[in-house]
Amino acid sequence: MTMLFDSHAHYDDEKFDNIREEILSGITSGDNICPCGVGYIVNAGCDIQSSRFSVALSEKYGFMYAAVGIHPHEAQNADEKWFEEIESMLSHPKVCAIGEAGLDFHYDFSPREIQKKVFERQMLMSQKTGYPIIVHDREAHGQTMEVVSQYKTVGVMHSFSGSCEMAKELIKKGWYVSYSGSVTFKNAVNLAETVQYVPDDKLLIETDAPYLAPVPYRGQLNTSKHAYATAQKIADLKHKDVEYILEITQSNAKKLFNIQ
Ligand SMILES: [Zn+2]
Repeated sequence: MTMLFDSHAHYDDEKFDNIREEILSGITSGDNICPCGVGYIVNAGCDIQSSRFSVALSEKYGFMYAAVGIHPHEAQNADEKWFEEIESMLSHPKVCAIGEAGLDFHYDFSPREIQKKVFERQMLMSQKTGYPIIVHDREAHGQTMEVVSQYKTVGVMHSFSGSCEMAKELIKKGWYVSYSGSVTFKNAVNLAETVQYVPDDKLLIETDAPYLAPVPYRGQLNTSKHAYATAQKIADLKHKDVEYILEITQSNAKKLFNIQ
């Protein structure tokens, strides 16, 4: 079987502090939860410490790749030194993307104007350096698309939660769309419908571990192996088999993140 590519996780999260080693050392082997095993994980940075942590994880584990960036929650803490260090981290051989960047108008942990500035700054960095960007959009679809449209670069809309129209617009711009466990939730009928508008060659899957565990693990600590249930759900929605979904999502992610 093709191994699973988890395009977005947070193994630096403190929820993994006592079990990180145990989980990651067994992640590549197949079991009942994930018969194919997990072959690749992109760990997304949220601030400067977690970006450094991402890089350290990528150095420790062959299957781990790092994204470095500033999450909208942390936008108000960003200073010039953070941007400089993040840009310099891009030359590390295991760093494959900028992120996660974006807008979160659900929690509003940072003022919206600051979120927008920090997002735009990272979009500009992506355009300038050619590294793809991982974008977080929660309840900010319109403004996120407005920013996305202003820069000539590509990336992925992570844990997609938008409409069919938004999916189509992203595809038109050459962007990728990534689904987390939320697509398996019982009340996610509208979200599940958007899968039809994402062509096979633009589709990614992810966990956002430790959050958003798919059904039937909803509410539990999420790990990359649980993304197999998400792959299965997408296979059902697209009337394809799960092996095909594993195959295309691995090859799409490798293409986007420039991984051999
Ligand atoms: Zn995330």
